[in-house]
Amino acid sequence: FLIGKATAYGAVSFYDFLKPANKNKKVYACNGSACMLSNTQDELKAKLSNHFGEDEIGEMCCLGRCHENSAFHINKKNYSGNDIDFIEEIKAGKTNTKETYNVDSLGTPILTGDYGDVSAFYKIFTDCLTRTPDELLSELRDSGLRGRGGAGFPIAFKFESCKNTEDDTKFIVSNADEGDPGAYSDRYIMEQRPHNMLMGMMISGYIIGAKHGVVYIRGEYPESIEIVGEAIEHLRSLGLLGENIQGTDFNFDFKVISAQGAYVCGEETALLSSIEGQRPEVRVRPPYPTQKGLFNKPTVVNNVETLANIPFIMKHSGKAYAEIGTPKSTGTKLISLDSHFNKPGIYEVNMGTRLTKVIEDLGGGFRMPVKAMHIGGPLGGLVPISLIERLSIDYDSFMKLGFLLGHASIVCIPEDYPMIDYIEHLFQFVAHESCGKCFPCRLGSTRGYELIAKAKNEDYKIDQELMSDLLDTLQTGSLCALGGGLPLPVRNAMQYFNSELADYFNK
Ligand code: SF4
Repeated sequence: FLIGKATAYGAVSFYDFLKPANKNKKVYACNGSACMLSNTQDELKAKLSNHFGEDEIGEMCCLGRCHENSAFHINKKNYSGNDIDFIEEIKAGKTNTKETYNVDSLGTPILTGDYGDVSAFYKIFTDCLTRTPDELLSELRDSGLRGRGGAGFPIAFKFESCKNTEDDTKFIVSNADEGDPGAYSDRYIMEQRPHNMLMGMMISGYIIGAKHGVVYIRGEYPESIEIVGEAIEHLRSLGLLGENIQGTDFNFDFKVISAQGAYVCGEETALLSSIEGQRPEVRVRPPYPTQKGLFNKPTVVNNVETLANIPFIMKHSGKAYAEIGTPKSTGTKLISLDSHFNKPGIYEVNMGTRLTKVIEDLGGGFRMPVKAMHIGGPLGGLVPISLIERLSIDYDSFMKLGFLLGHASIVCIPEDYPMIDYIEHLFQFVAHESCGKCFPCRLGSTRGYELIAKAKNEDYKIDQELMSDLLDTLQTGSLCALGGGLPLPVRNAMQYFNSELADYFNK
C-alpha cells in the first residue's frame, strides 16, 4: 500500500509544520477545547519557550490527548502531560514516552474486549466470503447499526444504495479524520485494535463490490497512521489482501491517506475532495457519494467506529447485535472522557446506559466542580449539569432534550470557566475552520466572534435579537453541519446560562 497525502488549507499552523525548513524544529501546542478548559495551554507554552524560540512554537487542534492535556506535537509524534520534562531528549529523538489511559466497558465489550490472535480473528472475514453479499447486507439491516460519526444514519441504506449502483470501480472510505476536540475514540480503535476497522472495511468492500479501501487519517494522529500501516502489512503477510483472496474472485487492497489538518475534511464530501487533491470544500448533494463519490465513483464513507462494529455483527448476527442497546439505537457506543473526570479514558457502554452511570461508575465523578458538559464535539449540545440525570447514551434521548449524541466525546466546562469565553472560542473555531463556500458560515462565524469580543472588551451589549437572527441564518443557510451546527451550543449557553451571560447581552 501507499501512504498518500491529502490537501487542506484550513490549519495554517499545521501547514507550517509541513514546510521543509521547519520540519524538525517546530513544536505545536494543542489548542483544542479540552486543553483550553483545563487551563494547561499557557503553562505548556511557557515551558516550551524555555527550549524553543517564539517562531518555533505553533498550535495544532486537536491532538486527541484530552485525557491528560498539555499535549504537544514535535517531529511527527504527539506527547502530553509530564513528557514536557523530557523535551530535550524528545528534541534529540532519544526518548519514546508511552501514553496510557483507562479503557473499560459497562455491558457488551464489542470494541473494548481483546480480539486475540489476528489470524484467528480474520476467520470472521473468511467466513463472510462463503456467504453472498446480499446475505451480509441483510445482517447489517437486521443489526440496525447507525453511523457513529455524528449523523446516526442507518448504514444498511448507504450500503444498499452503493451496491445497487452499477460501476466497475467503487470505494469504501474510512473517515478517520476525528477532528472533534475532546474525541479520541477513533484514535483508540486505530492504535489499539486497528483490525476491527480494517476487517469492517474488507467486509464492506465485499458487500458493495468495492476493491479499494481508503483510510483517511488526520495528520494530527501520526501514531495512528503508522499503526494502521503496519496492520495492513500484517494482513498482506497473512495473504488476506490482493487478488483472488482465499481462492475467491474477491480482490481488495488499502491505501492510507495522511490528511493535512482541516476540521471540515471530516465532512464526507470535503474529505473526498481532499483525497482527490482538490480544495476540501463541501459538495452539494445530490448526487450522494454512494452514487458519485470518490473520483465520481460509487463510494461508501463511514467513520472508524461504525466500521469497527461490522465484524461483531457478522460473527454473532445482525439480530444478536440489535438485542444490545435500545430498539432505535442498537449496539454499544464508545465515549471519550476528558481530564476533568477522576478516571478519564475511553469507555464502551450499551446504548441506553444512563449518563450519570457513565460519569460516576466509569469516570469516577468529576475531579472539580463542573457546570456543563459539551457532548458530541464543538457542534454538539452544551448540557447543563442540572439535565444530566435526564439523559441516556442514545440518539433519541439526546434529541428529545434538543442535544446531539454525536461522537459522544465529553468535554467538561468547569464552574469557574467563563461561559462567554467558551462561546467566543466556538465562534472562533468555526471562523477558523470554515471552508468558505457559503457566506452564512464564512461571514456569520466571524461576525459572531467579533460581537462577543466587542462585548467582552468594550462597553457594549449584544442585541439578543441580532444574535438570534445571526444564529437563524447560520442554521438555515449553511451548506453543511459546521455553520449549521454552531447555533446549537451557542443557544444552549444563552438559554441555560443566561444569568451568567446577562452582562454581555441586552434584555
Ligand atoms: Fe463550508 Fe461552512 Fe458552508 Fe460548511 S457551512 S460548506 S464549512 S462555508
